[in-house]
Formats: sequence, C-alpha cells, structure tokens
Amino acid sequence: MQLYNTLSAEERAELIDQAGKQRLTLSFYAYAKIEDPKKFRDDLFLAWNALDALGRIYVAHEGINAQMNVPAENFEAFRATLEVYDFMQGIRLNVAVEHDDHAFLKLTIKVRHKIVADGLNDETFDVTNKGIHLKAKEFNEILEDPNTIVVDFRNHYESEVGHFKGAITPDVETFRESLPIINEQLQDHKEDKNLVMYCTGGIRCEKASAYFKHQGFKNVFQLEGGIINYAKQIEEEGLESKFIGKNFVFDNRLGERITEDIVSQCHQCGKPCDNHTNCANDGCHLLFIQCDDCKAAMENCCSTECHETIHLPWEEQLKLRKGKQVGNKVFRKGKSESLKFKHSGELTDVALATIPKTKDIRQKIKVKKVLLGKAEHYYVKAQVGLFTIENQELNIGDKILISGPTTGNQELVLEKMFVNGTEATQAKIADKVTFTLPFRVRLSDKLYKILD
Ligand SMILES: [Zn+2]
Ligand SMILES: [Zn+2]
Repeated sequence: MQLYNTLSAEERAELIDQAGKQRLTLSFYAYAKIEDPKKFRDDLFLAWNALDALGRIYVAHEGINAQMNVPAENFEAFRATLEVYDFMQGIRLNVAVEHDDHAFLKLTIKVRHKIVADGLNDETFDVTNKGIHLKAKEFNEILEDPNTIVVDFRNHYESEVGHFKGAITPDVETFRESLPIINEQLQDHKEDKNLVMYCTGGIRCEKASAYFKHQGFKNVFQLEGGIINYAKQIEEEGLESKFIGKNFVFDNRLGERITEDIVSQCHQCGKPCDNHTNCANDGCHLLFIQCDDCKAAMENCCSTECHETIHLPWEEQLKLRKGKQVGNKVFRKGKSESLKFKHSGELTDVALATIPKTKDIRQKIKVKKVLLGKAEHYYVKAQVGLFTIENQELNIGDKILISGPTTGNQELVLEKMFVNGTEATQAKIADKVTFTLPFRVRLSDKLYKILD
C-alpha cells in the first residue's frame, strides 16, 4: 500500500504535461470532530492518489484544511471521496478562477495539532457560534453602510498586493497576532458597528468571528468562502469588485489577479508591481515583491549580499548558511532592511498603476489574424505541440501566432509540420497537426494565422 509520494516534483511536472489534461485548482476546509486523524489521513491519501489529485492538506482532530489540484475529469469522483464523510456532505469546494497545471506537484497530507495555527484556546469559547456568512453581493452592500468596519484577517504580505477598499489591514505576520490588535482597536464599537471580516478562503474568519462574538461584538459578519469565492461570484454575477489588486495564494502562482489594479510597489525600485518572488539565495529565500527589471539586474535576489552569495562556490554558500535557521522564512517575515519600498499596516486604496491592457489592443489592431484551432497536447521530450484545426487551413510558410494566458503571444513561421502523423504541406479542418516549438504550449492555447 503506497501511502506517500514516490515521484519527484520534476517527474510529476513532466507527467502532467504529457497527460495534457485540464486540472482544477481548489481549496476547502471543514471543522469537525475527527477521532483518528492518522487513519483519516491515510484513507484520504489512498483515495486521492488514485485520482491523481495533488496538493497540501492538513488534518487534525478539529478538521481538515486543503489546497489542491485535481484533474477536471476526476472532479466528481473527487467530490465523492469527500461525501463519504458526514461532515463533508455538500461541502463547498472553492475552485480558483485561474488555473496552473503546476500549482501543486505532490500530494502532501500532514497530521497536525490544528488545521490553522490560530493560537486560540478552543475551550474558552464556542467555535460553532460564528458570524453571519455573506455572499459577494451582500458583502458589497454591507461595505456601503457607514456603520461598517471591515477587517482583513490575512498577513501583511497578503494585504499588500490586494485588499478590500477601506479595510483595516493589521501589520501582522500571523493570524493569531491580529486578533488582540483588532479587539483592542475596536473596543468601543462592540455594540454599534458591523464588524465585517474576510480572509483568503474563509477558514480564518470561521474562528475569528466566533472569537469576536465571544469578546462581546454584537454584529459580526464574514465573507463566505473568502476572497477566492468572492472573485468567482463577481465574475459570474457581473458585480463590481470592491477588492482591488491580487489575491495572494499559497501555491506556485503566489497570487490570483482579481482586478487590473496594482496597489503595491517593487520593493527594490518602487515601480508599481505586485509579483511576489522568493530570493534566489537558498540561504535567504525571503518572500518579497520584485519587478522584471530588478529581477534581471539582481538575478532574483533580495539584496546585494544575497546577489554576491549566489555567485560563490556551493561549498562556501553552505558554510555561510551553517547554523542559520532559514526553513520557515518562505512565507514568514517578507521584511528586510534592504527592501526600501515594502509597505504594511496602512495601505493605499488607490491603484498605483493598472495592468497595461493597451499592449494587447495595439497588437490586435496591428496584427490581422484568423483563428485556426487550439492546442491539444505538448510532448515535453520532443518539444512538439499538437493542434487541431477547426477553421480555414494551415500551410507551410504561414506566419502563425500562438496565444494563451501562460504562453503569451508567440509568433513564428511554420517550416515543417506533420498532419495526422505524416509530413505534409497543408492541413484542413479536423486535421491533427504537430510541429516543433521553441517553447511549451498549454492546453487550449489558440493557434492563429497572421494575415499580411
Ligand atoms: Zn524594481
Ligand atoms: Zn535574499
């Protein structure tokens, strides 16, 4: 019985690419009473490993908290593995708006003391006496009420790249620090104000709302399913987003864009930027915001010191690291004196810049193109893309454009192709076409012919 991962992250990434199947990024949590978390963990691993589900999951006596990535075709089967447990029947799975096939490359299920490190003694209050859950539309409405105080229950590096307009964003590194700060700050408003709270996926608010009700707050509300679910509803229902910027998430993407607004700066040069990265010096690994220019100049390092370090021989780097605790720096801190434009605590509600849309528009005007079909597969080893032609025809010598959210816009001239497995000069509707590419295409990338 296999109860742990046997593939490395690299092997897994290659398998995912070769399979070429669409994967869904999702998260969920549930508070419950779990008698035997170890057995629960092993049962889940067996069920999910069989479905090719990947992710980071914590289980504890108090419940489960999961961030995952599941093949779209196994989604219902996956849901069925949850429904066998009474406490997860009808559970809401927060499916992300953007998907990255490589968001998770392992299935890691850990038994923990708690599913969220909240530092709260559960015996002192009733965790089931929680705040009123609000959907996106209701949440927008309550934000309009002058009696509302809205609090961000995430950490400083999360709020920095995106938050609700007018929110209090405590300058904290952990959830547990923010509770007494907010309690103190809002001492005089326990009865007359609406205390409205939000976090990434809703789980932190489940406990925070119960805590604040226990502290004597009368009107406690929470954003149901957190920002992840809010973003989905905004899109589906065409609502105005009162959240500006990016939603920081704990997978390889490090953020999901909600609006085009950029509300933070590159920590090194001050340019509007909201791309988090980890310092390339393995002995540092600091989480910080870095623009493309600084990334190139600093080779992805947070400081000149780290930049010098990565050019030392590996043995010397190891010597420098000896005795230093760096393991949990990944998401901890995100603060360093060498970062001049780091902001926390009071944050701006004004966009410093917006994502340059103009580029695309200009390209659309400049380049006349016609859609031919879409990418079906990519063979990593041979560096070959497979496309299905759905419109018009493709000829050798055509100037083509391959376009997609991850791929961007890639132009090239077609010099050689295989049509339904045989080398040919023309492909027609319904033909399967393969040709070599200097980059990796993603499933559903669009193939265009550029017209002169
Ligand atoms: Zn910069
Ligand atoms: Zn560094």
